[in-house]
Amino acid sequence: MTYQNYSLDQLRAIDNAHHLHPFTDHKDLRAAGTRVVVSAEGPFVYDTEGNEILDAMAGLWCVNAGYGREELVEAATAQMRELPYYNSFFRCTTPTPTLLSQKLAEISPGNINQVFYGSSGSESNDTALRLVRHYWALEGRPEKNIVISRNWAYHGSTIAGTSLGGMEAMHAQLYGAVPNIRHVMCPYAYENAEPGESDHDFGLRAAKAVEDAILEAGAENVAAFIGEPIQGAGGVKIPPASYWPEIQRICEKYDVLLMLDEVITGYGRTGEWFAAQSMNIKPDTITTAKGLTSGYQPLSALLVGDRIANTLVEKGGEFYHGYTYSGHPVACAVALKNIEIIEREGLIDRVREDTGPYLGDALKAGLGDHPLVGEIRTCGLLAAVEIVRDKSTRERFQPAGSAPVVIRDHAIASGIMMRAVMDTMIMSPPLIWTRETVDMAVERIGKALDLAQADLATT
Ligand code: PMP
Repeated sequence: MTYQNYSLDQLRAIDNAHHLHPFTDHKDLRAAGTRVVVSAEGPFVYDTEGNEILDAMAGLWCVNAGYGREELVEAATAQMRELPYYNSFFRCTTPTPTLLSQKLAEISPGNINQVFYGSSGSESNDTALRLVRHYWALEGRPEKNIVISRNWAYHGSTIAGTSLGGMEAMHAQLYGAVPNIRHVMCPYAYENAEPGESDHDFGLRAAKAVEDAILEAGAENVAAFIGEPIQGAGGVKIPPASYWPEIQRICEKYDVLLMLDEVITGYGRTGEWFAAQSMNIKPDTITTAKGLTSGYQPLSALLVGDRIANTLVEKGGEFYHGYTYSGHPVACAVALKNIEIIEREGLIDRVREDTGPYLGDALKAGLGDHPLVGEIRTCGLLAAVEIVRDKSTRERFQPAGSAPVVIRDHAIASGIMMRAVMDTMIMSPPLIWTRETVDMAVERIGKALDLAQADLATT
């Protein structure tokens, strides 16, 4: 059965009748209907009406190698033929997760040599939380189990992921978070720096909030700090350069483990395999997913540092945790091929040396003076555009978050898929973008901003 047997109206009606969507107001959705995306190639996606849309979000921050990769299809097909599934419980393994683990150990920071698989970033963060607590219990310190996180963090939608995350709206629907998780301010200078405070000083102050939380809880009770190197879903909040080295120093000082969530930043987005390398920090765990398979298969990998892994091996005792699809052979085959493509085509070097800096320059040159644009910030192929009513005072449009939605709708109509997070427009394009693709994006965003400005002026 293929979708071609159905008209667009039929597909929409069926979707309305039966499909509950993630992060969606279903009353709204039922009224507005869905955009049906049916195919994709390179940097573009196509809907049933034949619209070609430049996908500046790489799906959902994941299609790093771009669409239409026949090699990934072949890798999946060959693996499905040979061995579509077997588990890695009960002293078993299969070849692809084994070889993928070796490859991930090779490309990750030097202190990381072990991998635990899941199917999603959320699952992987559940694993990470359980693992760090298990680590301290094995070390004879089960009371050291508090985890410090940050406001606006996104760590997934499971109960643990939501509890770790710092999204107020999600917490409000949690009705009972995982205990012993505390949240502190995030390093978001555009809104939180004091007038006249330098980026450097603000970064140190934001890190100090973590130290204060550790001291308040008592370092003997704190297991770990968790953070995304760049907060993605929270609005591509790029911390000042002073922040992460200071976080590392604080974690070392109080013997608190450092957990990085690189579900977005992993696999090349910041111009290195991992942002830990871009920022020169040594985490104890790195949560990864998305770009690991470029989204062609659901797969997550928790990269585990030697400190934790050594304790697991030396102390022994079963870690009562795992998923049916941990180390799924087909997903791991696709990941291996995906990493091979990224390496072979030099995509990460290109982001670091060419397209990443070019994206920052082109956005600033093309859009920086636009009346709606308060700030543009980028790191590698991650970008944020702050939307303001008044550039000099940084006053926002009311109600909060309303203006970027207008811009997003114009952006899609102008042929570019972007996302609106509160008062920020964000981008996370595939690593295959070239200078020409960047230019096309800037032009389309500029058009959307102009159209939105006309609308907003009348509201
Ligand atoms: N962590 C981060 C930083 C993420 O951005 C996401 C997803 N956007 C997740 C975790 C959760 O991943 P998943 O949706 O695959 O569960």
